[in-house]
Amino acid sequence: MKTVGVISFQGDFEKHLERSCALGMRAVPVRDTETAAQVDAIIIPGGESTTIGMLLQRFGMLDLIGGRIREGLPVLATCAGTILLAEEIIGSDQPRIGGLHVAVRRNAYGRQIESFEAEVAVSNSDWAGWQDGSVLGVFIRAPIIDSVSDDVTVILEFEGKPVMVRQGALLAATFHPELTADTRVHEYFFHTVAGFPRAT
Ligand code: GLN
Repeated sequence: MKTVGVISFQGDFEKHLERSCALGMRAVPVRDTETAAQVDAIIIPGGESTTIGMLLQRFGMLDLIGGRIREGLPVLATCAGTILLAEEIIGSDQPRIGGLHVAVRRNAYGRQIESFEAEVAVSNSDWAGWQDGSVLGVFIRAPIIDSVSDDVTVILEFEGKPVMVRQGALLAATFHPELTADTRVHEYFFHTVAGFPRAT
């Protein structure tokens, strides 16, 4: 059985652990380099990207995870996680893992609509699960993915901007898929992006 590690310093890590277990994965919290070095995939949850980045740096995990990503470690990043995975955070030099060839802007939907729900559209259906054409996205002080490189595929979009993208084994969403009953983003990550077998 494959083990997925959820970065568990701050933010919405419990829900990702629960969702991963519900889908038949072995899921463990990651708070140290030993665990980060052993897991078969990593989830970086939403929360506060500056706090999570600072703690990853303090515990020596930025370089370790960055190195494992270059070796092909599958990563699901959501919201603050996507900020930490982005190569470019516009206007910020905060600690980050990097590796995902996108530029993001933090808190980009403005103060009036800090949090909202919206149906987001499937723009690249490389998986049968996306066939009904949309996903309900919960956005909480979400970043906007401003630009993507050629090696990045936009899977879901909203108002003309990517809200979920894939680059090889990296999957990053600007919304919170762990907060709705729809399990498709995690299923897509485990079985299509990471290639883990389904539990029997
Ligand atoms: N606004 C947060 C940040 O910039 C992200 C919010 C979230 O993860 N829900 O880190």
